[in-house]
Order: sequence, then C-alpha cells, then structure tokens
Amino acid sequence: MPSNPEFDVIISGGGPVGMGLAIELGQRGIRVAVIERYEKPQPIPKGQNLTQRTMEHFHFWNCEKQLRARRHMPPGVANGGIVSYGNLLSPHRYEWLAREKVHSYYYSAVERLPQYETETALRERAAQLSSLTLFYGWTAKELEEGADQVSLTMVKRKTEGDDSPTLQTLTGKYLVGADGSNSLVRKLAGITETRQDHEKKMVLLVFTSTELHDLLSRFPAKSFYNALHPDMKGYWQFLGRVDLGSSWFFHAPVPIDTTADNFDFTAFLHRAVGAEFALELNYVGFWDLRFSVAQTYKKGRLFVAGDAAHSHPPYGGYGINTGLEDARNLGWKLAAVLKGQSSPELLETYDEERRPVFETLRDDFIENFINEDREFLETYDPDTDLKSFEEKWYSRTNNSSEVTAYEPNYDGSSIVFGDEHSSPSASGAHVFKAQAGHHLAPKTLANGSNIYEQLGNNFTFFDFSADGVKARKVRELVAERNLSVSTIHLYDSDAANFYESTCLLIRPDHYVSWVGTEHADLTGAEELFSRTLCL
Ligand SMILES: Cc1cc2nc3c(=O)[nH]c(=O)nc-3n(C[C@H](O)[C@H](O)[C@H](O)COP(=O)(O)OP(=O)(O)OC[C@H]3O[C@@H](n4cnc5c(N)ncnc54)[C@H](O)[C@@H]3O)c2cc1C
Repeated sequence: MPSNPEFDVIISGGGPVGMGLAIELGQRGIRVAVIERYEKPQPIPKGQNLTQRTMEHFHFWNCEKQLRARRHMPPGVANGGIVSYGNLLSPHRYEWLAREKVHSYYYSAVERLPQYETETALRERAAQLSSLTLFYGWTAKELEEGADQVSLTMVKRKTEGDDSPTLQTLTGKYLVGADGSNSLVRKLAGITETRQDHEKKMVLLVFTSTELHDLLSRFPAKSFYNALHPDMKGYWQFLGRVDLGSSWFFHAPVPIDTTADNFDFTAFLHRAVGAEFALELNYVGFWDLRFSVAQTYKKGRLFVAGDAAHSHPPYGGYGINTGLEDARNLGWKLAAVLKGQSSPELLETYDEERRPVFETLRDDFIENFINEDREFLETYDPDTDLKSFEEKWYSRTNNSSEVTAYEPNYDGSSIVFGDEHSSPSASGAHVFKAQAGHHLAPKTLANGSNIYEQLGNNFTFFDFSADGVKARKVRELVAERNLSVSTIHLYDSDAANFYESTCLLIRPDHYVSWVGTEHADLTGAEELFSRTLCL
C-alpha cells in the first residue's frame, strides 16, 4: 500500500447512511470516497418515515429544504397511521404512531417521502462538497487492512462506449461499511452477527390503485394502515401510502414457499383491506423476517453503520432513522480524530454508544410490538366477548407509549458526564430539562434566536448566568489547550429555568454531554474535554 492514503475515509455503500456520513464528514473538510454500485437510487418506496431527529440531521447537512420539496404527500397529511382489527375497513380501529406528539422536543418537524427521494436529495447535497469523491456504478470487492491504512478494490459496471479501467484500488485511513444488511465489509472484516430468526417470509408489494384511495377516504387521510389479523400471529399487514391518491406499498408475511409466480397477491391484498378493488402490481419482493446485530461496530480501522450493523423488520419505521443517527455519531468522532483534535480512543465510543441503542430498540420496541400484538390476538376476540375486546383494544391506544418512550440516549457513556450506572438505550422520556447523554430540546433564547441556531460543528458551551464566570473560565481553558469548543455567554434566566441548569456543554451531534448549575464547579466539563478532545 502507498504510504500516504489518498482518502481519509472510504465509505462502501452510498445508500442513505453512506451518503449521510459522507456529508457529515465532507462538511468538516474530510477527504472521503463513496463507492456505490448503483448509478441511481433504486425506485422502491421503503424508508419513508423520517423522525424529527432525522430531520435535524438534514437541517445541519444543509439540505432540509431540498429534501422537503421532494415530499409526495400533500402538506397536512399526518405522518401517523391507523391500526385496525381483522382488515383495514373493520369498525375496530385506532390512531397509531403519531410522531407529531413529541414535536416540541425537536428543532425540526417530521417528514415522509420515499427513500429514493431522500437518497436523491443526499446525492445532490454530496455533489456540492469538494472533499467528497463519489464513485457511482462501482462495486466493492476486496479490502485489506494495514497497520495505519486500509485499501479497497472495486470494479466498475461496464457501460457501452466507456473504456475506463474497470478495476481500481483506493486507500484510506479508515473504512466504513454502509453497504446494507448483506454487508461485504462486515463479512470481510470478520465481524459476526447475533441473529434472531423468526422463520417468516415477508412480501413487499408496490402497486397503484385509485379505488383503494376511494375506499379509505371514508377515514381521515393517514400515511399508513395496519390490519392485525389473528391468523398472522402478531405479524403485520402493513399498507403505506407513497402519495395521496394512487401509489401504495404493502408488506405482510406469506407462506415460506411463496414465489412471485405461485401466489395470488391481489386476493391477498383484498383480504387485508376487506374489500375488492382494482390495482396494478408494479413490484414484488421478498425478505426473511429476522433481527441481526453486528457483534461489534468497529474492528481496527473498519466500521459498520446502518443496516450493515443492524437489521430488523420495518415495524415502526426505525431503520433509516437509526442508521442516520449512526452516521451522525460516527461522523464527528472520525473528523475529530482525523483532524488531530481527539485521540483515536474516541472512536471506541461509537460502538459503546450506538450498539446498545439498537439492542434496546430491538427488544423494547420492535420485538415487543410483535409479542404484544400476538398476545392480544390470542386473548381477545370481538365475536366471543365484544366488551372485553373493546376495553382492551381502545386501552392499547390510550395507554400507548411507543412514540413518547422512544428517546435514544447515551446514558452512562464514557463521554458524557451523567449517570454512570445506566447504559445507552432507545428507551427514555421526552423532557425539556437538559440531561447529560440526552438530546437537547430546542428553545428560543433571550436574544431571539433558537438555541439550535447557535450550534455548529464543534462542541458548544453555554453559560446562561448573569456574571458569565464559567464561560470566561472555559474560554481560557479552550485557548490554553487549543480545543475546538465554541463558548457562548448569554444571560437568560428563562433558558436556565427551562433546561434546569445554568451551563450546558453540547456535543457536535447536539446531545448534551455535561450540565452544571451556577454553583457547580467545572470539573466535569474539564474531564470531558480531556476524554474527548485532548490528545
Ligand atoms: C418495506 C420497507 C419499509 C421500510 N420503512 C422504513 C421506514 O418507514 N422508516 C425507516 O426508518 N426505515 C424503513 N425501512 C428500512 C430502511 O429502508 C433501511 O433501514 C435503510 O435503507 C438502511 O439504509 P443503509 O444505507 O444502511 O442501507 P441500504 O439502504 O441497504 O444501502 C446500502 C447501499 O450499499 C450499496 N452496496 C451494497 N453492497 C455494495 C458493494 N459491495 N459495493 C458498492 N455498493 C454496495 C447498495 O447498492 C445500497 O445503495 C424500510 C425497509 C423496507 C424494506
């Protein structure tokens, strides 16, 4: 391998996670190569539901407006859905997964659009960043890891009239596999996975039907619908809108020997909806329902992110959102190490923080959805005991916490100064109070700006006290040690009350890493600077 790698980071896989990571790094001037086998995003409308937190990423990647302009649904159609019993037209139904409930805890609002539109917006943004080199139409084949660099060999799809070399080797300081659930990087790195097979074959159907839109127009327009049927044993019959009027996708379990040719998908859809309607099938695809998680997200100079690190059924719409958070977490850490602002040990915290978040997401949310639905369907039946069925059915929505309790956090992480006996988790509570290890809630400050408008690519220290003593001390510390920390002193007792702390240290991914009151000393913040920023 040549002694000077051409790139700082090579990313294998230019799906949403690979492109998000490339932008996160490219905006910090890191030299990145992205290798993606497809010239254009694939036209399958998966990964539609983008949470508020994900939209904050797009805001800071400077393409939020461009992404929202690609929305297919008219404004005003809620991002949530409806669950019904038996079939979609059943009288037993309730509202479900309304992510708008937690809107006030985030700076950006939810969005919904097909994944190929999201990927197009990311590709357009990436094209604007000069430190990125984008190899579309290339497939990664081999990798080699040396003591201080990695190399990746890739081949190009041949196109007519293109005589350029078809085999090329790139070198980089680090390599990230964002190459999906069958990740080549994960396999070549020898990273094993923990798998939970459900031995279920799932079908994904993409189709057009205006008659289905007419049938469902008796209910207020929702983005998705789920019919729970006792025969499906807790697995979902999930229908999603791609636009408002004619385009749809649907996934549900099918018998294990189903192929595109031996099954009546139209009758299957009619049964799930509870009525016959005309439709045109545009795509039929299959996947095995399973959960898998890489045993480590980092091995030497190699990382995995997104579906390469974790995969699960698309229940609850977590996949792309979790993957993009991996990108945000890994991005600032890689950049800090590559710029010499932090020691390479910081990179170990990527696995430390992100893997437990996925593991708890799997156990507390996605598997739990399946188990709870199965148990309900086995226990209650409206035909035998309508009263008990209805009592339980409606209490499921009234007591539901799947939106409010989903609050990924880094409690107990070695680079936040909080409760060291906890561990990172997808479960938490949405509160405005600033808590170390948790997402920062937005707030309009005394100067009229939102706190999010004050945040940049580095750590930010806020001092809301009248005297600003702590801000002065941090400024001195930062200057003395040449740290990349912005310091803001703004007297704002309202903000101090809102966050229940006078001083805040915010990480580059906008999680809180330390909180302090007027009387607290700065030991915690200083220690964090040592752990995260000093060499
Ligand atoms: C039906 C369905 C509905 C879904 N709905 C939601 C939802 O509502 N919300 C949500 O958050 N998630 C959803 N998901 C999940 C979401 O689509 C995935 O989690 C997301 O695509 C993961 O992104 P990724 O970039 O990690 O992987 P991928 O999207 O798989 O991207 C990997 C990329 O790597 C490329 N690649 C692979 N191997 C190589 C190689 N050797 N060389 C070069 N390139 C390579 C591929 O071409 C691909 O572009 C859904 C999934 C499905 C199937």
